[in-house]
Amino acid sequence: MAKSRVLVVGGTGYLGRRIVKASIAEGHPTFVLHRPEIGTDIEKVQLLLSFKEQGARLVEGSFGNHRSLVDAVRQVDVVICAISGVHIRSHQILLQLELVDAIKEAGNIKRFLPSEFGTDPARMGHALAPGRVTFDDKMVVRKAIEEANIPFTYISANCFMGYFVGGLCQPAKIIPSTESVCLHGDGNVKAIYVDEDDIALYTLKTIDDHRTLNKTIYIRPPQNILSQREVIMAWEQLIGKELEKTSISEEEFLSIIKEQEFAQQVGLGHYYHVCYEGCLTNFEIDEEEEEASHLYPEVAYTRVKDYLRRYV
Ligand code: NDP
Repeated sequence: MAKSRVLVVGGTGYLGRRIVKASIAEGHPTFVLHRPEIGTDIEKVQLLLSFKEQGARLVEGSFGNHRSLVDAVRQVDVVICAISGVHIRSHQILLQLELVDAIKEAGNIKRFLPSEFGTDPARMGHALAPGRVTFDDKMVVRKAIEEANIPFTYISANCFMGYFVGGLCQPAKIIPSTESVCLHGDGNVKAIYVDEDDIALYTLKTIDDHRTLNKTIYIRPPQNILSQREVIMAWEQLIGKELEKTSISEEEFLSIIKEQEFAQQVGLGHYYHVCYEGCLTNFEIDEEEEEASHLYPEVAYTRVKDYLRRYV
């Protein structure tokens, strides 16, 4: 079977650039949306040129120009969107409604993967405000996709390792300390950590797979389902030293959230659900959903300890 042609939207982003790389590596004819609005951002232009050198095709298109999006979408079979969705950086999830309109009009898309790649928003109806905005916006996009009868796959990628493992699960920290760490409560709540390159690879594996059509795919690499204490222990083994530990109770954490700026409140709300509530691991995957490491056992995914080794 010929490999699907893939259009990556948000290909210059933190996750998107990895999706472009994985798409090329997996042998898909790969198209990357190039927005004229990036203007003189030389880093992005150079990145786009590097994709071109690796064999990708750059397609000009703009969210403000419906026709250009329809034309871009008509050149491919699958659209993967990795538009921004982290408030401390940028959050443009609802712009995808323009993309959904274009896909609907083009009528040729076999699969659309919207920008999700985190906690399953369908399971976060109870989430705290204002952090719930991320989940609410992603659900608005899902509704539009499903109402337009667009075939989809939703990727629930759990915690990006760069943010969570790099900071030993502490918010606003992305480099592990060799001195001290603050635990969320007793530090025993389990979460799930996935290397960003592995997220991209698993994502690409799903697009031509009938088992993932119109489903949510959870990425739960079994060796990476760990508590904060277990992540810290892996780091301590690598550096040959025990960190000094303090702890912050659930009540204290919730009261600190209230004192922050909006973007920080959103991010801390997500940490609350992951690290205190255990929202990534407190449910079983339903029969009509799938788990990526089970579907694709050939992927040699990165273990937490190996990810941490790069900081030593
Ligand atoms: P980035 O912030 O790196 O941005 C991705 C892309 O968004 C860029 O390529 C940029 O394109 C595009 N973009 C930004 N503004 C606009 C705009 N106005 N119009 C069109 N395109 C725009 O995204 P991330 O990689 O951080 O996030 C991708 C997804 O991953 C999100 O859904 C996010 O919620 C999720 N995520 C999950 C995490 C987890 O731990 N589970 C952690 C981080 C993210 P351009 O270069 O053309 O401007």
